[in-house]
Amino acid sequence: MTELFTHKDRLVPYITPWSREKVTQPVPVATLHGIAYPGPAEGRDADDDVLWQCWRRHPGAGEPLWSEVHGPRQRHAMHRRLCQVCAGPADRDEQGWLWLLEDERDSGPTWPDGEMTTHPPVCRPCLPVAARLCPHLRRRGAVAVRVAEVIVDAVYGHRYHHGPFGLYAGKADVFLTSSWSIRWVVGNQLVASLSQCTVLDPVETGIKTPVSRAQIRR
Ligand SMILES: [Zn+2]
Repeated sequence: MTELFTHKDRLVPYITPWSREKVTQPVPVATLHGIAYPGPAEGRDADDDVLWQCWRRHPGAGEPLWSEVHGPRQRHAMHRRLCQVCAGPADRDEQGWLWLLEDERDSGPTWPDGEMTTHPPVCRPCLPVAARLCPHLRRRGAVAVRVAEVIVDAVYGHRYHHGPFGLYAGKADVFLTSSWSIRWVVGNQLVASLSQCTVLDPVETGIKTPVSRAQIRR
């Protein structure tokens, strides 16, 4: 069972990094096959080609960085369908995995089919906790969704380019892991593509967002 931490009486989600987990990022260099970190810096998982942003693994050390995501824990949760808050198994029923998404129901009748997200799924008890604690969802409003088909097939990160003064990072974007350019990307988080989705009734799930400041402290 994964140890969970609190800070000032607030639960800190599994994927939230702590200040002492942050490291100075090594500068990538060009190789024959894309980019790599010079020297012994860890940058790749055993099972993929992506060069990842570096993090220490020391949850509970320092202060939580509420607006950031710990890359290795996010990837672990995404690959194994673990709850983003408690790292237990995410909830699943006949309609699929339980996901909490930014509420974009006004973007069209097919939403969220085809949605790409960096948020890992959630378990049922953590659903309201995730809605309260995730700064992004709290600001924009969230809705619970069942997802029957999940494909983890992309990376959110920065692609590096050759410039007159050496390599430089482009702006953050989503890159398919199957694309040729993935070897030029420093990844921040995994991205899942969601389809066969069912939006759940906010009244039944008890998700009320945007959340008031008073609720955030509970
Ligand atoms: Zn949970």
